[in-house]
Amino acid sequence: MSRVVAVDVGGTWFRVGSSCKDIGASTVQRVRSPSLLNNPGESVESLMATLLSMLDTAAPLGAEVSISLGAALDESTGTVYGSAPLWGDYTGAFPLREELRRRRPDVSWQVFNDLTCGLADFSARAGGQGARRIGYLTVSSGIAYRSADLTRREIEVDASGLQGEIGHTTAPPVQDPLLAGTPLPCDCGGHGHVASCASGPGMARMARALDLPCAERFPDGFTDELRERRHGARSLLREAVRPVAHVLRTIWQISPHTDVIGVGGGVAENLGTFYEQELTRQICEQRSYADRWLTPELISRRLRIARPGEADCLRGALLMAEGYLSVTK
Ligand SMILES: [Zn+2]
Repeated sequence: MSRVVAVDVGGTWFRVGSSCKDIGASTVQRVRSPSLLNNPGESVESLMATLLSMLDTAAPLGAEVSISLGAALDESTGTVYGSAPLWGDYTGAFPLREELRRRRPDVSWQVFNDLTCGLADFSARAGGQGARRIGYLTVSSGIAYRSADLTRREIEVDASGLQGEIGHTTAPPVQDPLLAGTPLPCDCGGHGHVASCASGPGMARMARALDLPCAERFPDGFTDELRERRHGARSLLREAVRPVAHVLRTIWQISPHTDVIGVGGGVAENLGTFYEQELTRQICEQRSYADRWLTPELISRRLRIARPGEADCLRGALLMAEGYLSVTK
């Protein structure tokens, strides 16, 4: 394990850790990520070149490097298809692992989706004990879901290597009258997507549309407004949670053996109990005969809002390098 280096590349941070015991300690290096989110206006080609250079620098001679990348990608080839926080509306096929191998043939490179790594760590530390299937949903600058069959320790993916890219599916309609006629753009270039309402940037846009006092410095002050039971803040929380509750209800309807789903990412973790209560309330809404089993008692056992650091992509990248879960097409 001493030669394994883990790198976690998200929309905000680029983190490097060298072994399990180091991760979480002060030896983890953290710098700003070469993302469009951090560098608005920079070309995708330039951001990709910077990413390659930073990964090259992070890799010691002859090391094994396991990368957790916040992007839709094929883990069997290391080809990256897109990431709204990293590269906006890019929809090509960036051969990241091939480029890294060409540049640094002395290094053994593995590239995993950040959800794969988050799921691995969440499963190992928090939720996997005795579960038949486990899922992990991240609600942060982007929205995505990943699940694994723990009886076979497998993450099933499609022919392109993808699973659970639900952030850019269509969201259920908003119900707040102030938001109903408001354009809901998504960082991917689309409109009305799950991420348009549920992601951090989407919530900030809705806060401005609702003219919340915290809008200009969102999310600072939002939890205070929730605590004070301000009408606008409660409405924003309902609209941000609605597409997430819809996704989770659908997952449990079509995959009832999913015994545990963790919900993590900055938005869910920072809003904590507020988020959990509203999510549970909406999941348990009785809308038809099919919902009778979705009770607060069941959901309290199956839904877990991850505490900060409970689904760590850096630790997950090391677990994946060890073969904790396999990815199967
Ligand atoms: Zn989108």
